[in-house]
Amino acid sequence: MTTTINRQWVVAERPTGRPLKETDFRLQDASLGEPAQGQVLVETLYLSFDPAQKSWMENLASYKDPTEVGGVMPGSGAGRVLVSRSPDFRAGDIVHGPLGWQEYPVMDAADLAKVADGVSITAALSVLGTTGKTAYLGLMHVGKPRPGDTVVISAAAGATGSVVGQIAKLGGCRVIGIAGGAEKCAWLTDELGFDGAIDYKSEKVRARLRELCPRGIDVVWDNVGGEILNDCLARLAEGARVVICGGISRYNADPRDPSQMPPGPRNYFNVVFTGATIQGFLMPHYEREYPIAEARLLDWVKAGAIKYKEDVQEGFENAPRALMRLFDGGNFGKQLLKLASA
Ligand code: NAP
Repeated sequence: MTTTINRQWVVAERPTGRPLKETDFRLQDASLGEPAQGQVLVETLYLSFDPAQKSWMENLASYKDPTEVGGVMPGSGAGRVLVSRSPDFRAGDIVHGPLGWQEYPVMDAADLAKVADGVSITAALSVLGTTGKTAYLGLMHVGKPRPGDTVVISAAAGATGSVVGQIAKLGGCRVIGIAGGAEKCAWLTDELGFDGAIDYKSEKVRARLRELCPRGIDVVWDNVGGEILNDCLARLAEGARVVICGGISRYNADPRDPSQMPPGPRNYFNVVFTGATIQGFLMPHYEREYPIAEARLLDWVKAGAIKYKEDVQEGFENAPRALMRLFDGGNFGKQLLKLASA
């Protein structure tokens, strides 16, 4: 261990009511911490990015501890244990957890888990991490697909959406993905076996849903909100389940300012005619089910039944830019950042 510096990205400004800017973050040098009893010193190898991190900077997420301006940017990642003062870890163990945007975090051992043998570090952060577990648990507990159902997914080529669609296919559903751009749409149909894809940037979503879902939509998995959700609500089948997982089209609006917020979906009344259910999903509410989700996902990944794509950027300096990629569709697959090799 030669370095005495722990570089950190801290929150410099809250990006409320606007897109993220690089100046919302500040890079600083802190001195390397010493683990106390029950703690470990970790070298961060990868950071993992989620759209929700913007809302954490705005203190909008009730399930998350508030962030401080000047505090280390929260985020999950994976790394190597350098020094352990916990019986649960040894130097050299590869672990994942809420490391924050820092190169050498001191972590409570209780907040970390080992990356299981036979699992790649990046898979632990992507298909077996938050996004994969969200896909499995949200679909099973809220979407409740049945064989033959038509399932429509927004942000379908993203980390969460692409796994949702593949699980629905394994369950015998017809799956239509909505994504931005021809390349992402081709990946959904040609590589992942989706039955159809709609490029919302160049096609009329409502008209294409009419063509591709002639019997209506049984399960809507919504990552986006706004007009795309509204178009899906217009085509609900009887007894449809609408899973509200994300609403990335509204993440740059200020929820405290009603004039900035999009109006409610105009087609919501269709839930009356179809007896549909609209239900929110939040992964931490299903914590007890994580081991089941991880085991199922791992089996599918090992069997090649679920494919996953990772978008790995490099260099700690690029952390803010990596997060910003999620908000303009720059990412193709789970957004990760590599800091060092395992
Ligand atoms: P992701 O889908 O890999 O990346 C985000 C994608 O959103 C982008 O690639 C982009 O894809 C799309 N997007 C961005 N701005 C958009 C806009 N204005 N309109 C339409 N699409 C837009 O990210 P992820 O981590 O898997 O997250 C997906 C969603 O799930 C997010 O809304 C996130 O907040 C939510 N989520 C919820 C939970 C939960 O527990 N509820 C857990 C994890 C994630 P295109 O190129 O297709 O535009």
